[in-house]
Amino acid sequence: MKHFLWRTLFIAVVFFCCGCGRGDFGVQGSEEEPKTYAGQSGEEVWQSVDTAMGTVVQQTVYASEEAAKRFFEEAGQLLQETEQEELSWRLETSQVYQINASAGRKEGFRITEEMASLLEACVELHERSQGAFDVTLGPLTRLWKIDQWAAGGEEDVFSIPSGEEVEQALALCGSDRLRILRTDAGEPCLFLPEGMLLDLGAVGKGLAQARLYPLLEKEADIMGAVISLGGSILTYGRKADGSNWKVGIVNPFDTSSNVGILSLEGNWCVSTSGDYERYVETDGVRYHHILDPETGCPAMGEVRGVTILTKDGLLGDGLSTACFILGPDQGMKLAAEYGAEVLFVMSDGEIRMSEGMRTCFMETL
Ligand code: ADP
Ligand code: MG
Repeated sequence: MKHFLWRTLFIAVVFFCCGCGRGDFGVQGSEEEPKTYAGQSGEEVWQSVDTAMGTVVQQTVYASEEAAKRFFEEAGQLLQETEQEELSWRLETSQVYQINASAGRKEGFRITEEMASLLEACVELHERSQGAFDVTLGPLTRLWKIDQWAAGGEEDVFSIPSGEEVEQALALCGSDRLRILRTDAGEPCLFLPEGMLLDLGAVGKGLAQARLYPLLEKEADIMGAVISLGGSILTYGRKADGSNWKVGIVNPFDTSSNVGILSLEGNWCVSTSGDYERYVETDGVRYHHILDPETGCPAMGEVRGVTILTKDGLLGDGLSTACFILGPDQGMKLAAEYGAEVLFVMSDGEIRMSEGMRTCFMETL
């Protein structure tokens, strides 16, 4: 923890700069150093770059030095705790690990209220997406060894599972078989069927986004912030010059460029799911990390990338995964039901988006 903290602060100091950001925006999926920006009026802008939850975390904060440092420290701690104490399926310390170890246990497993409401939201999205979104795909994501592929692919750990293996793993999945019951004392208890494994990879960053807002809000000296967690971007407040936040949407055909920029005012969560984020290519076929629960294989639709714009990070993260699988017709409907805006980049290059998304979208191609 200490090490993480010092590294963050050091980077923050290195990037310290007086003046407000000109065209200061997070580029989705970017793992580069922060963009440089020109100073203008004397407000402080602090930046930090680090890794947490298996992804690059890039933070830009318009704040006093004390507030920025405090926030970086607390945000770093929050992300680590979320991963280590709740979401990781690898670390024995995490709730998901312990839940998975409890599969098949008759008396179930006592979970926290936070985990209960997270899982309830995931089960609701499972139902409303006709099963496309499913956090019980652990047996399948492990079969495909998704977590082991680096961005861009690592062919040596990759092998295509047999149809029989996929069928067997698929039979263990299904959010409709999750049960959350209350004990007499009102405590939530989860019953995970034998062989089932949770994988909350599709909502982790969104959950973290949702939790970062209260940290930002409690610092009166933070005027604005833009935080990128891998493909998920959060905006908060405003910049010193009052201009809108600019969030790039990655071009799946050339990930060093954007298909467009979202111009946003105030607090927003932008979440993207794409087949270019984690994948392996073999014999001309791209195997990526978003699985279709109907087939047990990477979703092979016409969608290359989906971006969701919402006020609720958790929902946005879940919806971007769900809409990737559902495709534009059903995906548009689902996003609208949840009051979210959505943009699809299709495999023929076409861009489809909801009306609300159009009002803040600026084309760059
Ligand atoms: P990322 O987190 O890499 O930006 P997503 O939010 O789309 O991308 O989540 C993908 C992750 O979610 C996968 O790595 C896997 O762990 C898990 N997952 C894959 N397919 C599904 C699905 N159909 N429903 C829910 N989770 C999924
Ligand atoms: Mg997601």
